[in-house]
Amino acid sequence: MKRLLLALLIVATPLAAQPAKLRALIYSGRNNHDWRTTTPFLKKILLDTGRFDVRVNEEPAGNSAATLAPYDVLVLDYCGARWGETAEKAVERFVASGKGLVVFHAASYPFGDAPILGDNMTNTGKFEPPWMEYRKMVGAFWSKAEKPITGHGQRHSFKVKWTRPDHPVACGLEESFWATDELYHGFRMMPGVEVLATAFDDAKFGGTGKDEPILWTVRYGQGRVFQHALGHNVAALQEAGFRASFARGAEWAATGSVSPPASGKPKTRLLVVTGGHTYDTTFYTLFDHPDLAWDHATSNRAAFKKDVRDNYDTVLLYNMEQELNEAERKNFQDFVEAGKGVVTLHHAAANYNAWPWWYEQISGVKYFLKPEGGRPGSTYRHDIELFVTPAAKHPVAGDIGPMHLTDEGYKGMWISPKAQILFTTDHPDADKPSVWTMPHEKARLVTILLGHDKLAHANDGFRKLVKNAIDWTAGK
Ligand SMILES: [Zn+2]
Ligand SMILES: [Zn+2]
Repeated sequence: MKRLLLALLIVATPLAAQPAKLRALIYSGRNNHDWRTTTPFLKKILLDTGRFDVRVNEEPAGNSAATLAPYDVLVLDYCGARWGETAEKAVERFVASGKGLVVFHAASYPFGDAPILGDNMTNTGKFEPPWMEYRKMVGAFWSKAEKPITGHGQRHSFKVKWTRPDHPVACGLEESFWATDELYHGFRMMPGVEVLATAFDDAKFGGTGKDEPILWTVRYGQGRVFQHALGHNVAALQEAGFRASFARGAEWAATGSVSPPASGKPKTRLLVVTGGHTYDTTFYTLFDHPDLAWDHATSNRAAFKKDVRDNYDTVLLYNMEQELNEAERKNFQDFVEAGKGVVTLHHAAANYNAWPWWYEQISGVKYFLKPEGGRPGSTYRHDIELFVTPAAKHPVAGDIGPMHLTDEGYKGMWISPKAQILFTTDHPDADKPSVWTMPHEKARLVTILLGHDKLAHANDGFRKLVKNAIDWTAGK
């Protein structure tokens, strides 16, 4: 019975904790803008909210209702040729049936009264007649044939002001935000549009001298459309106001509401220690994760000069040093005894040859810098081809599987018989164990011998190994 209850809990917990993601599809692939950089950025904005699963389609022509059926919202980062009747009717019906549409920057422009100029435009090179339903969906259209011409002045920095601060997209945000972007003007607005935000289009930059609509919503059938006129390039998308308004607008288009910001899990606090050994700066990219907050100590003495128990969850040693005074050693030991984590990485295997606490209880390894007690010094060899194989199931090993790297091998070290080996290698110039955990009453300890230079740093298996080791030693 107990076992059954446990099984039920294991099954039920992730379901309860993880609400279903909103499914967004981005149409991209043709634009008079750099869609190859903007589309991935838009995707990332949505993914970073934790609320979306996002797919990208770079060739919308020929799509059908079945293409769109799984999605809650369609995002258009597209400015190019028409899609053909099947695909266009599918989009109309998708939105009208009660789904969401986000029209981003130049996506308000195509299918209008003039051919689109520039790269990657029409398939035929010929003018195509306007798609009239598209104007209704967007809530506006561009006029290139009749004055005043729809367009924009020079790019510059300007404030975007919410005109409907009570709307779910704007609710709780500051009354305005900065944009560094094009400021579109001269839109031909369709009936039923609700303008959420405007910006003053200064004549000094070629503007109209009036407030111009920037963000708006419109209903199309049962569906919700959110139009975002900003976003000329990635720098424009990086503006905090853009990211917030785009993500919230997409959520509103998908659902009709915007949930309060997720409180977010606290980040893992990591202290990275280097010193006494050179390394490639690609090392830093190992910590490029949104859930990590890491500090860098450039020597072990700097790392442990004070009590760090309250500051960090785990420490990663990529130093190669012998000297640590009594007070610093005590801070290190207090950190471990407080039940924190230690990751020993690569050349840190040669740390503290004269500190048995370190190599017997923490790293589980001693790289002999010189012969000792009749035993020869350990050896290293650069740029060897290592085949590294999982040896045990463990959260640190995860689903990484076998690795094949060009890395440095160490041989002739003392390795603790207490080590629980997670990965091994069979190279003649390397000791067999490559990765292990050390048992400890309170702390969590992982040692990884791999990781000499940029070749290892770039290997995705190695990168996951380091991240898993950080997470696990931090108790995550
Ligand atoms: Zn633009
Ligand atoms: Zn090395």
